[in-house]
Amino acid sequence: MTKRILVLPGDGIGPEIVAEAVKVLDKLAGEGLDIEMDEGLVGGAAYDAVGTPLPEATLDMAREADGILLGAVGGHKWESLDIAVRPEKGLLGLRAELGLFSNLRPAVLAPQLADASSLKPEIVSGLDIMIVRELTGGIYFGQPRGIRTLENGERQGFNTLVYAEHEIERIVRSACDIAMKRGKKLCSVDKANVLECTELWREVATRVVEQEYPEIELSHMYVDNAAMQLVKWPKQFDVMVTTNMFGDILSDCAAMLTGSIGMLGSASLNEKGQGMYEPIHGSAPDIAGQGIANPLATILSVAMMLRYSLDQPAMADRIEGAVNKVLDDGLRTPDIMSDGMTEVNCEAMGDAVVAAL
Ligand code: NAD
Repeated sequence: MTKRILVLPGDGIGPEIVAEAVKVLDKLAGEGLDIEMDEGLVGGAAYDAVGTPLPEATLDMAREADGILLGAVGGHKWESLDIAVRPEKGLLGLRAELGLFSNLRPAVLAPQLADASSLKPEIVSGLDIMIVRELTGGIYFGQPRGIRTLENGERQGFNTLVYAEHEIERIVRSACDIAMKRGKKLCSVDKANVLECTELWREVATRVVEQEYPEIELSHMYVDNAAMQLVKWPKQFDVMVTTNMFGDILSDCAAMLTGSIGMLGSASLNEKGQGMYEPIHGSAPDIAGQGIANPLATILSVAMMLRYSLDQPAMADRIEGAVNKVLDDGLRTPDIMSDGMTEVNCEAMGDAVVAAL
């Protein structure tokens, strides 16, 4: 059956990097991948064109799509706008409207780029971790929240950490499904010694794995220790699953282990398996329009789409293999350039990946 892909280039370097990722999809379509691609407006580009960062037409196409490929949104141009119409609202709106509760953030370091990390090469070379972050619940959404004035006149800020059992079950299942496709090792990260909410998290995670995924080796870790272990010996992890806020922090920490923001893709999935795929970096306004952005994070996001939403794991492997090949051949965009390598621009990097495919 034909799969529908919605392409949302967005702002800044978004259109440049997405164009290279679309070349990769076109190449695979030419070899029999049965897809149809639509393009839509999101973020500042959408605001400029129609006055809203998430037009109804984009949302309608997103609901019908099997996979959404997003570049990035945002930029200085829109920073003074009212928060309700800022580019980021387009992204948050898509996540909320599609119920994208499971955020997959891989931290993979190609051995060729081990020197890019701030950690010693032997600690990070060949690193391959998947952090599964709950994306639509927890303290970022819990009610009540706000800033109130106490009787003594002092102001008090408050937020609420809440997780219902079904929310924990579905994110743990999502992480288990991924662990089953990898090393069958899952580490659930919580703060069960202090927070009752994550005491429940630990209990539910244990039950789901014991009852539904007996092959998976489950461990639990407190978040403070997890942060420490990530920088001490990150290769001990395969898949990690955690709450929205802990995942926000740990996934950025894990991404930085690799030293190159231009190399990492991400996925956000809902219960139907629909997914939004995007590089972890932003719209990089400082280099937008120069043609020098690294398109590999976006191309690797396409590989994730093939694996997690389009059921084409062999094609996903091929894309990852092609990226590996261009790195082996010494091609580097400026952000990952080092001595003795060949510097190429965004378009040449995309063309090289297509050729390697
Ligand atoms: P950024 O990720 O855009 O850029 C950080 C630094 O990394 C910059 O120096 C940039 O040039 C570089 N960089 C990022 N991607 C690169 C790539 N593919 N190739 C080469 N270099 C790359 O983060 P920022 O500067 O903090 O934010 C810029 C804008 O992006 C802001 O408006 C922010 O709100 C937005 N943003 C959007 C998303 C998203 O769309 N998902 C995520 C983060 C930030």
